[in-house]
Amino acid sequence: MNDGDKKPKKNGLRFPFGGPQLPDPKKFGGWKFTIIYIVILIVGMSLFNYVFMNRVNPTIDFSEFKARIASGEIKRVELTDSYFTGYTTQRQLTQVPGLRSNLRAANVYRTVGILTEDFIRLLDSQGVGYYAVSREGSAILNIIFSWVLPIAIFFFIWRFLMKRLGNMGGNVLSVGQNRAVIVAEGDIVTRFSDVAGVDEAKEELVEVVDFLKNPKKYTDIGGKIPKGVLLVGPPGTGKTLLARAVAGEAGVAFFRMSGADFVEMFVGVGAARVRDLFKQARDKAPCIIFIDELDAIGKSRINNIAGGNDEREQTLNQLLVEMDGFDATSGLIILAATNRPDVLDPALLRPGRFDRQVLVDRPDLKGREAILSIHSKPVKLSPQVDLAAVARLTSGFVGADLANIVNEAALLAVRGGRTLVIQKDFEEAIEKTVAGLQKKNRIIKDDERRIVAFHETGHALIAAFTPGSDPVQKISIVPRGFGALGYTLQMPVEDRYLMTEDELLGKINVLLGGRAAEELVFGKISTGAANDLTKAADVARRMITDYGMSARFKNVALTQRGASMLGTHEQREPQFQREYSESTQQYIDEEMASMMETQYNIVKTMLSERRSLLDSIAAQLLEKETLDEHEFKAMVNI
Ligand code: ADP
Ligand code: MG
Ligand code: ZN
Repeated sequence: MNDGDKKPKKNGLRFPFGGPQLPDPKKFGGWKFTIIYIVILIVGMSLFNYVFMNRVNPTIDFSEFKARIASGEIKRVELTDSYFTGYTTQRQLTQVPGLRSNLRAANVYRTVGILTEDFIRLLDSQGVGYYAVSREGSAILNIIFSWVLPIAIFFFIWRFLMKRLGNMGGNVLSVGQNRAVIVAEGDIVTRFSDVAGVDEAKEELVEVVDFLKNPKKYTDIGGKIPKGVLLVGPPGTGKTLLARAVAGEAGVAFFRMSGADFVEMFVGVGAARVRDLFKQARDKAPCIIFIDELDAIGKSRINNIAGGNDEREQTLNQLLVEMDGFDATSGLIILAATNRPDVLDPALLRPGRFDRQVLVDRPDLKGREAILSIHSKPVKLSPQVDLAAVARLTSGFVGADLANIVNEAALLAVRGGRTLVIQKDFEEAIEKTVAGLQKKNRIIKDDERRIVAFHETGHALIAAFTPGSDPVQKISIVPRGFGALGYTLQMPVEDRYLMTEDELLGKINVLLGGRAAEELVFGKISTGAANDLTKAADVARRMITDYGMSARFKNVALTQRGASMLGTHEQREPQFQREYSESTQQYIDEEMASMMETQYNIVKTMLSERRSLLDSIAAQLLEKETLDEHEFKAMVNI
């Protein structure tokens, strides 16, 4: 379902389990496959044995053998150096041991005997025919049966397997070569108009399309075209779709690989594949390489305590080498997608590599409506269907969920015997999907949404009424991919290198605003402020220990900056060393607590004085889900 170019069938339905299932090439040659052939081999050999060999009873005692001769059961005896074989038929079918095509299978007894005169006498007295078989005579056939035949059987099976593998494209021996997976796709029909709800991401990618179309425009002026663009966002928000749309809009070839495709069992194969991919792409330029799920190969090498995974590391290194190696003017641009930007190796994000990051976030109300209308275009809707209402009911849903809902609604309409999809079908489809998503913790309940709305409004209002605070750019209660239920975005107006004590306290106030609003409105507090509190405590601690802003240790720095380890993570804080006693630590803790309490009370007063504003903005936020700078300013009236 993640193939953006696969247009739905004529009636606009996609059936959840429909369509011919092509075998996954990677599954072939897997070990299930091998086991089937081993079983066939064993069964075949047993059958062969059964049909062509005599039924040989297990070796019996020589005394029993003699008894069976005496009783007349054994009528013929074959003598060899190592054992005697007794047959219950008189007729000698063939002289050849091993292969006796007696289909009227005789009973055969075998024993390790002693050739004595007594024994010969017994044979003579019973009239048993006996003869000796020289080893020489059977040698050739023995060799054939014990050596040539099994080898021949294995050879044929091997040939057969090779042919199967051959059909899957490529030779087994050329592991490093990419198999059929890696052909460039031309004529991509996906366009930006097929993607909705991610306008900011689209805007940035429009520029990438322009790079691909008119690289000269940029290089003439001396500018550098970016080599890599990383699409970051939760699953199902349309990252893959956007990448295809870029290729479609620019009209260039599209190489798509998933990060997992590079990670192979053998060390070196992934790296060879990367090399191969870039070679093919350079020949086809201008084109786009799209690496889906980059985190599969791009995981940070630093956090790898257990010694690391050689294969993945080699693959990643090769990718870095290739990205540095190609000339951006050649019209090759690398797009990659990930939903785990936090685990990526920092080397990937350096200039000249994936230095552009595009956030593909969950759609807000308007975005969801637009996505719904894109996906219901091929579906016959009753005129009464209100997609805006559907959008209102699907807070937190991503594009893939919405596409699924439209399809589900259409299926429900068919099941209900209708020719048009009605609103109730949508409602039922939403209910079905919500149940599934709730299990995955992706849906926020209504009362939680209310808490989030007041929390974020609290941050925003304090920011608006704290002099010197960065202006609010956006408030949102659309859950952000990575754990946050909502967010308030503040943009610094200018670079700041110094902050006054008041400004630091203002920062703490803004951070506390979320929880204070919750307490004010609901009379209770939630866990939603945990991250805010950590940040606020961090600012407070630094004020006391680093900046000497406490009453007792005025102008005393209590920490000493340790030399930062060479080559550590860029984002990691330098190591701090504690330079004070236990009692000082206690003082710091107490001072922090009292600072927090003072600020929290200030914040609560600020908010309760503006209670009606808090209520109206939160209500607006609940309805629209996001408020931008202008909408917010208009409401606050500043
Ligand atoms: P991702 O790669 O981010 O996990 P996909 O691009 O594979 O998500 O999205 C899966 C499907 O969901 C797409 O093929 C498309 O049908 C639908 N979809 C997802 N996001 C959007 C969107 N923003 N606009 C329109 N359709 C979308
Ligand atoms: Mg994807
Ligand atoms: Zn908060």
